[in-house]
Amino acid sequence: MPTFKALFATQEDGKISAGFRDLDLGSLPAGEVLIRVQYSSLNYKDGLAVTGKPGVIRKFPMIPGIDLAGVVEESASLEWKPGDAVIVTGSGLSETIWGGYAEYARIDARHLVRLPENMTPRQAMGIGTAGFTAMQCVIALERHGLHPASGDVVVTGAGGGVGSLAVAILAKLGYRVAASSGRTELSSYLQSLGAAEIIDRGVLSAPAKRPMDTERWAGAVDTVGADTLAGIIRSLKVGASVAACGLAGGGTLNTTVYPFILRGVNLLGINSVTVARPERLEIWRRLGRDLPLAKLDSVIQEAPLDRIFEWGEKILAGGVRGRVVIRIR
Ligand code: NDP
Repeated sequence: MPTFKALFATQEDGKISAGFRDLDLGSLPAGEVLIRVQYSSLNYKDGLAVTGKPGVIRKFPMIPGIDLAGVVEESASLEWKPGDAVIVTGSGLSETIWGGYAEYARIDARHLVRLPENMTPRQAMGIGTAGFTAMQCVIALERHGLHPASGDVVVTGAGGGVGSLAVAILAKLGYRVAASSGRTELSSYLQSLGAAEIIDRGVLSAPAKRPMDTERWAGAVDTVGADTLAGIIRSLKVGASVAACGLAGGGTLNTTVYPFILRGVNLLGINSVTVARPERLEIWRRLGRDLPLAKLDSVIQEAPLDRIFEWGEKILAGGVRGRVVIRIR
């Protein structure tokens, strides 16, 4: 039986550890489609999983990697045939389904999305869950009435994966984007993605002086949570919304009901894992249309799977700029 290289995570006495192993194809769990993986990516959740932090992997043993792009090798589904280029993001990968940090994956057909025609597998993984989530946030804001004439939109954690791609998408759509970052050295990078204004992250997370601040934001994409999200809620315009997708700054939210009942603001929760297939296809269609690929290329760095542990530590420390594509073979 042919073997393949995989990052393999196990749990013993409550301690999670991950290391490389050679597995044979027969050891892959059941699934309709066998995929030869070309690229995966690095997301905050991948950083948690590969460094042994709890909260991501829910079934052991597990192959981490919440995203993958590759080519169908065998298929028991009529929808897919050998040679098809496919991508999978979220959908339970690295949680309950073996993920993308391996040369092969076996996954049920319902999780697969066809690689958009204008994209390479590397670009699709430059997008990955981060870009998918950024697009999901923008669509959620649009469905709650946001349009370019509404006013300024703020993106937090703008130097990270979700943040960088949210800035690029919103700017392409014609919004005036304020990028909030803790790294002043990223200013010219964020401007190159289309940010009209850079805000120090400490401004948004400053302690509340009153339940509501001056109306400032027509919309917001928040990847940080905690005091930053509370600060945004206090300064949303009447009827405006914040799409909350992340917790890079913490998982608690200390706010009051005043902005909700006096300004009618909306807190939109975003979950990129369990998205119904028609919506998943629509998000990828929008990514193909609204994310400028030249800007995407400037956001991407590439690293081999062998170096996943150091990159995992780096993303948890908030030290990754944009997106890291993981080369599997
Ligand atoms: P990244 O690490 O790439 O980006 C996070 C960014 O947040 C950093 O680059 C940094 O930006 C900022 N940041 C880091 N630490 C802090 C801190 N202590 N306080 C304030 N800001 C901080 O991660 P991703 O873009 O992959 O993910 C961002 C968040 O979104 C994560 O919490 C992740 O779990 C979540 N997420 C949720 C999804 C969902 O389905 N809901 C899907 C994908 C991601 P800067 O230096 O510019 O300030």
